[in-house]
Amino acid sequence: MTDEIRNNVETQTGGEPFPSDEHSLTVGADGPIVLHDHFLMEQMAQFNREMIPDRQPHAKGSGAFGYFEVTDDVSQYTKAKFLQPGKTSDTLIRFSTVAGESGSPDTWRDPRGFSLRVFTEEGNWDMVGNNTPIFFVRDPMKFQHFIHSQKRRADNGLRDHDMQWDFWTLSPESAHQVAWLMGDRGLPYTWRHMNGYSSHTYMWVNADNERFWVKYHFKTDQGIKCFTQEQGVEMAGTNADFHRQDLFNAIERGEYPSWTLYVQIMPYEEAKTYRINPFDLTKVWPHEDYPLHRVGRLVLNENPVDFHTQIEQAAFEPNNMVPGTGVSPDKMLLARTISYADAHRARLGVNYKQIPVNRPKCPVRSYTKGGAMRVDNVHDPVYVPNSKGGPHADPQAYPANNVWEADGPMVRQAYTLRADDDDFGQANNLVNKVMDDDARDRLVSNAVGHLSAGVTEPVLERAFQYWKNIDQTIGERIEKGVRDNTGS
Ligand code: NDP
Repeated sequence: MTDEIRNNVETQTGGEPFPSDEHSLTVGADGPIVLHDHFLMEQMAQFNREMIPDRQPHAKGSGAFGYFEVTDDVSQYTKAKFLQPGKTSDTLIRFSTVAGESGSPDTWRDPRGFSLRVFTEEGNWDMVGNNTPIFFVRDPMKFQHFIHSQKRRADNGLRDHDMQWDFWTLSPESAHQVAWLMGDRGLPYTWRHMNGYSSHTYMWVNADNERFWVKYHFKTDQGIKCFTQEQGVEMAGTNADFHRQDLFNAIERGEYPSWTLYVQIMPYEEAKTYRINPFDLTKVWPHEDYPLHRVGRLVLNENPVDFHTQIEQAAFEPNNMVPGTGVSPDKMLLARTISYADAHRARLGVNYKQIPVNRPKCPVRSYTKGGAMRVDNVHDPVYVPNSKGGPHADPQAYPANNVWEADGPMVRQAYTLRADDDDFGQANNLVNKVMDDDARDRLVSNAVGHLSAGVTEPVLERAFQYWKNIDQTIGERIEKGVRDNTGS
């Protein structure tokens, strides 16, 4: 067979040309299928194994490739090479909803994931962010319970607003994020029309080993645009994949979406005395205290060719850091540096970083070896220290400088409260300072609708008080709306 003929011939995964893609091998045209039809057997076996477990959570989503270009000079704050003036790096992004399964509608009210990878010359840098600057809980011990309350009941397998409000109202630290979620931005028109935030506080380290705390804000260049609740519900029933389709089609048309990256920067020492705990994930840093500094621009210009290998198998993890960056004492972030890699090992196998979409675009010289689905060869020596010329750490070139001081007894306690730390103040700012009358009306309407769908006493009573703690008038309006709706 010439190469030209072979080029278009269907083969088995082992390379053997297919004799037929219409007929299985039988004993006579009308007889039974023989067991050794390995062409048929392989097709069936592969098909049965196509699905891998959903992410838990953030199962429904999609993504694209692009680039990040630095437009401004932040070299006085970080030595990270991908953040130096004029630098451009390849990127991968994945957007998602949180609670729904992989086939669920894109336009249910929910926070959106905004997971970004920058393939840098010093390794992968990942930001596993959201379209909101805050989160529902501040201690990872509560995270698993929070997600359970947003997903499905044990008995009937249904989602349940009673369960959601039960958890929220017993977790007052959720108030800021719940107020945000019930507002306009809890239902973005498309992924292109929303911001992405690191939410967490991270560390930057400059060439002089000075440390800074930073929060990342990716502001959409398309402008913020949101669905109303009614529009979102209608779209959920018409086109469950609206957001996935919108992103793919926009890139196909050459309308490349972009975001401008800003950071808030807090000098290292200031964190110790700032009036709000700057590591509490339920709080923002007010812009008037920490203004935005522009850094660069993220552009998405390339669609995946294989959704499974490039998006479903994309494994973002906030522990993917590069020199000049680091994590912070935010307890949620510290737990995520462990749980994400653990989730990827469970879902994709221990060698998930050798899947091309997860593979760094810089040399990897690791002593990890073996494990299922390993494709990279290991070379001797397989241990360190060694006298055989194997790779070794270089603390002079890469000092452990992205760290902080901690001392004290081991305890299980909430963060120490600071002067302006409370659960409702920033939620009140959002409702009264940021939203206008129309936005407040929609917030009330969204909360009333949500609370009128199956929430029982005494959860309802607690929910009214929760909203009154955010703002008395808003709480009274929500109470009246729900009581009128349900006749209770
Ligand atoms: P500012 O007035 O300086 O900032 C208000 C921020 O709110 C802007 O970033 C704006 O977004 C954003 N925003 C506007 N409308 C909405 C909405 N409907 N839902 C959610 N966010 C909206 O005030 P502060 O910095 O003092 O923050 C006040 C409140 O604003 C906070 O409590 C928080 O809820 C919210 N917020 C604050 C952010 C921060 O990092 N400081 C970031 C996002 C929200 P845009 O970026 O489009 O200008």
